[in-house]
Formats: sequence, structure tokens, C-alpha cells
Amino acid sequence: MSEQMERIKTLIIGSGPAGYTAAIYAARADLKPVMYTGMEPGGQLTTTTEVDNFPGYPEGIDGPTMMMQLQQQAERFGTEVRIGMVTAVDFSDEIGGIHKVTVDESKVIEAETVIISTGASAKYLNIPSEQRLRGGGVSACAVCDGFFYKGQEVAIVGAGDTAAEEASYLANICKKVTMLVRKDHMRASKAMQHRVNSIDNIEIRYNTEVDEVLGDQVVEGIRMVNNETGEKEDIAVTGLFIAIGHKPNTDIFKGQLDMDETGYIITQAKSTKTNKPGVFASGDAQDKIYRQAVTAAGTGCMAALDAERYLAAVESKEILASS
Ligand SMILES: Cc1cc2nc3c(=O)[nH]c(=O)nc-3n(C[C@H](O)[C@H](O)[C@H](O)COP(=O)(O)OP(=O)(O)OC[C@H]3O[C@@H](n4cnc5c(N)ncnc54)[C@H](O)[C@@H]3O)c2cc1C
Repeated sequence: MSEQMERIKTLIIGSGPAGYTAAIYAARADLKPVMYTGMEPGGQLTTTTEVDNFPGYPEGIDGPTMMMQLQQQAERFGTEVRIGMVTAVDFSDEIGGIHKVTVDESKVIEAETVIISTGASAKYLNIPSEQRLRGGGVSACAVCDGFFYKGQEVAIVGAGDTAAEEASYLANICKKVTMLVRKDHMRASKAMQHRVNSIDNIEIRYNTEVDEVLGDQVVEGIRMVNNETGEKEDIAVTGLFIAIGHKPNTDIFKGQLDMDETGYIITQAKSTKTNKPGVFASGDAQDKIYRQAVTAAGTGCMAALDAERYLAAVESKEILASS
């Protein structure tokens, strides 16, 4: 075996809540997991200041601290956490086959099981004022951050089902929600459109985009622009929610794993099994519905249990075959 090659039982790709939970369970089951953190060690929660809805933190916790604690917990049981990016995979089709995973385009890991927890990235508008105020009133998660704007006026950008869902969620908490739709109609289903249209404190602005987010340290308002007339208008809001979609970080698995049309990995019902034996998917990379830290952690736990059971089944078949 070359120096650049290594054989392990369980490889975990990604270091968000799904990856660390998988690591805790896999390490305690003696699978000696190795984790590669990717370009964002700790995952999406490291980009947020306040996590108020993860069970076990009565006073809330800031995202980076929570992720550091998850790492410590995973390491306590022997998980080896390494900095590195998985750049290519070659998954086996055989039960008990060895999966080859390339890290940083050079090192090859041979793994008996692989747990994918590469998450998803929220799409942003990518205008400078929006980027500057991310975490200061600009958020891509209404369910996560809406509560902090209770009784206040906010705006949301988007026109699909998720945007409509998030707008109605915010309308329950906030005084007023201004919804900016780029086209002259919404993409959301008729039922969702009906829902937002029937909520008194949602105002929908069609043909409208964000020209600039106003505020120095925190969001104080937005400058809207009508993309037909060019007319600009400022409104005072304390929060701006971006709901224009997510992109699962699954490009490297294309052609190997079954995915839906947007790239979310398809798992078999009530499990984390993919179409390749011994490869399991957890967290936001396979979940376009819930996308929460606690649900990601839950599927991370499932993935480790699925991996453990898979290895036990493979081992018992090998023992039977050799006896
Ligand atoms: C601003 C914001 C605030 C949020 N607030 C909350 C909240 O308050 N409560 C809540 O429950 N949820 C919240 N969420 C949602 C929550 O962060 C996600 O649901 C959760 O982090 C998903 O976990 P995950 O483990 O699936 O993936 P992620 O957290 O997305 O982590 C993915 C990991 O995969 C790694 N990775 C990706 N590609 C590769 C690769 N090729 N090789 C190696 N590693 C790779 C990344 O580096 C990263 O470590 C928030 C999200 C955002 C964006």
C-alpha cells in the first residue's frame, strides 16, 4: 500500500451537526471513524451567532461554540478529525466492497463504509451590502432566526414554495412581512400563493428586487427597486430573509449516487441508505424539507447505526462463507 493510501472502517465527509453526531455514534460503536471537515469546519452553524432551538441549551448558544463542543464530544470517543476536502469518490457496487475516496486530490482513503454529511449552502443575492450584514439581520433561515424579529417589520425575498412557507411562518411572529417577488407572478403552488395572499400582514411586491440593504452594523431597512420602472423605494425593516433556494453540496457524488433534480441525495425510506451498499447520507445533503440542526443530527445518528449494522451483516456473511 502506498503512503498516500489508507484503509479504514468508517469515513465521515463533512463536519456539521450531521457529521459530528454520526461521529459520536460511530466512535462509541468502535468503528474508529475518520472525519474530513471540508472548507467550512463546523458547517453552516458557524455562520450564525445565536442558536436558540437546539435541545439542551436553555439559554441558547452561539453557533461556533456549539460546533466546537460537538467536535470535542466526537473526539472524546476517538473520532479522528482531519482538515481536508473530499475531491473525488469511487463507490463500490458490491456488498462488502471497498469505497475509494480521494482527499485534496492526492490522498486516497479506502473505506468499508462512508457517511456523507456535506450539507447544503443557502443561495444569497450576492450584493455587497447583503453579504456585509449576514448575521446582522440578513438570514437565509426564517425558522431559525425569525423569532429574533418578534413584533418587528421584516422583508423576505423569494417566490417559490419555501419562500411562501417562510413568509407565512414570519407573519405569525412579526408585525409585517414585505415579500419581494422578482417576476410579476409567484412560482409557489396555487395553494401556497392562496395562503400568503390571505394573510393580512404580508404585503407582496411583484417585479421588485433588493437594490441595497441599509444599515451599518445591523439591518435598518432595504432599498427596493421596481425592475420594470426602475423606481426605487426605501422601507424600514430590521430583518431581511433570503429564500431563493439551497444548493446541496453533492456535486462530487454525481453519477455515483441517486439524486433528485436539484442534487439532494435520495435515501431509502426510513433509513440513510443510498443506492450504493455501505454508503449512507445524512443531514441537509439529503433533506430539502426540514433543514435544521437537530434533524441533521438525528439523521447523522441514523447513518452511524446503519453503518454499524451494515458492517455487522457483512462480517457475519464473511464468517458464514469461510466456515
Ligand atoms: C445563518 C443560518 C442560521 C441557522 N440557524 C439555525 C438554528 O438556529 N437552528 C437550527 O436548527 N438550524 C439552523 N440553521 C440550519 C442548520 O445550520 C443546518 O440545518 C445544519 O447545519 C445542517 O447540518 P449538516 O451537518 O447537514 O451540514 P452543514 O452544517 O451544512 O455542514 C456541512 C459540512 O460538510 C462539509 N463539506 C462539504 N463538502 C465537503 C467535501 N467535499 N469534503 C469534505 N467536507 C465537505 C462542510 O465543510 C461542512 O463542514 C441555520 C442555517 C444558517 C445558514
